[in-house]
Amino acid sequence: MALRELKVCLLGDTGVGKSSIVCRFVEDSFDPNINPTIGASFMTKTVQYQNEMHKFLIWDTAGQERFRALAPMYYRGSAAAIIVYDITKEDSFQTLKNWVKELRQHGPPNIVVAIAGNKCDLLDSREVPEKDAKDYADSIHAIFVETSAKNAININEVFVEISKRIPVAD
Ligand code: GDP
Repeated sequence: MALRELKVCLLGDTGVGKSSIVCRFVEDSFDPNINPTIGASFMTKTVQYQNEMHKFLIWDTAGQERFRALAPMYYRGSAAAIIVYDITKEDSFQTLKNWVKELRQHGPPNIVVAIAGNKCDLLDSREVPEKDAKDYADSIHAIFVETSAKNAININEVFVEISKRIPVAD
C-alpha cells in the first residue's frame, strides 16, 4: 500500500487551541490544562484513507509574538497549513488574516490552506459569525470548518480534507 508523507503546520494566535487540535487528532484526548507550546512541537500520525496510508508530519508552532519569526521554518516546506482562530475571539480572526497574507507573500506557492474556527462548543460566547469566516475562506479558496478539540468535532475531517487537496507527488 502506498504511503504518503504530508507535512502540515499549525498557525494562529496563542490560546486558540492549536495544540489541543493536534492532541485530539494524534491521541484522541483533550487536556484542559495543556501546557503552552514553546517554539514548536512535532508529532506524527499515520492514518489510512481509502487505499492509501497518509503519514502526517505535524508542526505545531507557538503563537507568541516572540516566536513568530520562527514560523517560516515550519511553513516553508509544508504541503498544508491549518490556520486556527477562536470563534469567541474576534482578534484571533484578524490574526488569521495576517497569517494568510504572510503565507501568500512568503509561503510555498501551492500550499493548501485550511481555516479552523475552533472552540465551536462555546456557542454562547461566539464573536465571529460562521458565515463571515466561511465567505472569507471561500474568497481565498481555503478549506473551512468550525472545530472543537474539546468535543472532537471536525478534527479528523480537517486532515481528511487536506489530504484530498494535496496532489500526489510523482
Ligand atoms: P494554542 O496556544 O493555540 O496551542 O492553544 P491550546 O491548545 O494550548 O489551548 C488553549 C486553551 O483553550 C486551553 O485551556 C484549552 O484547554 C482550551 N481549548 C482548546 N480547544 C478548545 C475547544 O475546542 N473548546 C474549548 N472550550 N476550549 C478549548
